[in-house]
Amino acid sequence: MARRPLPFRPATATQRRARGVTILGATGTIGVNTLNVLAMHPADFTVVALTGNTQFERMFEQCVQFAPQTAVMLDEQAAAQLRAKIDAAGLPIEVLSGAAGLAQVASLPQTDIVMAAIVGAAGLLPTLSAIRAGKRVLLANKEPLVMSGPLCVQEALKAGAELLPIDSEHNAIFQCMPPSYRTGEPHAGVRRVLLTCSGGPFRETPAAALAQVTPEQACAHPNWVMGRKISVDSATLMNKGLELIEACALFDVTPEQVEIVVHPQSVIHSMVEYVDGSVLAQMGNPDMRTPIAHALAWPERMESGVNSLDLFQVARLDFERPDSARFPCLALAYAAARSGGTAPAILNAANEVAVAAFLARRIRFTDIAAVIAAVLDDMPAASELSMPIVLAHDARARELAAAEVARLEVGA
Ligand code: NDP
Ligand code: MG
Repeated sequence: MARRPLPFRPATATQRRARGVTILGATGTIGVNTLNVLAMHPADFTVVALTGNTQFERMFEQCVQFAPQTAVMLDEQAAAQLRAKIDAAGLPIEVLSGAAGLAQVASLPQTDIVMAAIVGAAGLLPTLSAIRAGKRVLLANKEPLVMSGPLCVQEALKAGAELLPIDSEHNAIFQCMPPSYRTGEPHAGVRRVLLTCSGGPFRETPAAALAQVTPEQACAHPNWVMGRKISVDSATLMNKGLELIEACALFDVTPEQVEIVVHPQSVIHSMVEYVDGSVLAQMGNPDMRTPIAHALAWPERMESGVNSLDLFQVARLDFERPDSARFPCLALAYAAARSGGTAPAILNAANEVAVAAFLARRIRFTDIAAVIAAVLDDMPAASELSMPIVLAHDARARELAAAEVARLEVGA
């Protein structure tokens, strides 16, 4: 198998001093988990900048606790409210707003590590800014990789940035890959990747009942506490489809080399199979602080606050094939992964619009896949990948998806 280099390079001696960390999406689920891990290691990391969108009160509390030099709220009004609170408290923290503020803090010279934890395509440009500045980028925000994975990897190699996966499955795969694989050496005996999937809250729900499920039910994930968008993606299994595309981009494997395995206990976070028949699995409690601590400390290890895995309590590990009839998003994602080019960006954009419409109770759960399928049918993907083409196709797919949502709208 021909191999290209991958953007993971060994640690350098500079990592001995306290490293500066910027968190994009600090007010979200991953952002809060990251701050919890950093709080355990005050001598090893300093918080340089934090960003959010609307939750200025949570951001203010984070500013008081972690004293970053800069805080950014995408939303202008939220930034003004944060600025007023920071001024009243007499804190020496600069408050910025808007997309320019996000891109600026992603590339600050004091920052060694950027946690990319904004949700959705909105994270693409700030994440790119961190990559182009040659940072260690901890990638929770999977949508940019789905939209433009080959471009992100190319940019990382050019700038000397490291892309370390936070998504629990990809972090597991990273941990199970041989070291030679990470430095782009020729074939290191990897046969395939087994991408595990909890099955989501509707794993056992009959097909006929899926049209009636509510956003609250879709967001009640059995094993993980996550933001609303990724929770719905986990319920439709589009999350696993996005992760398939993410794995192909990060690990230079084909969709055929990735098998999705439903594993309801979420104890094995993914596996790598070797040509000699060995299968290496990474296991642990389902808690995002493990991959976060792993990537912050890599190639060393540090405490994350996660409890030991109690195998006696887990007792058994089950595996099933995914049901692509009840969860059509999976097949849509496999098709987009095989097509390549802008197909994954179109899939991602249509999914974001459809999920937002479902959360706003405008369409039914089962309409999410219908919207995405209609947009993929309506819009030819480009095979050539460049950032302007990706952004143009993202925008066009959103328009088509919005029109499809209006057509399907509940009560219309
Ligand atoms: P949340 O919804 O909890 O948090 C999203 C964060 O992004 C918040 O800080 C939010 O700000 C900010 N944000 C929202 N919209 C914008 C925007 N347009 N521009 C800039 N910032 C914005 O999401 P999660 O933490 O759950 O997920 C973050 C990413 O990580 C997603 O891509 C998800 O797929 C991925 N991920 C998450 C996992 C999890 O366990 N949660 C697991 C694996 C991957 P505010 O709240 O202030 O409005
Ligand atoms: Mg995941």
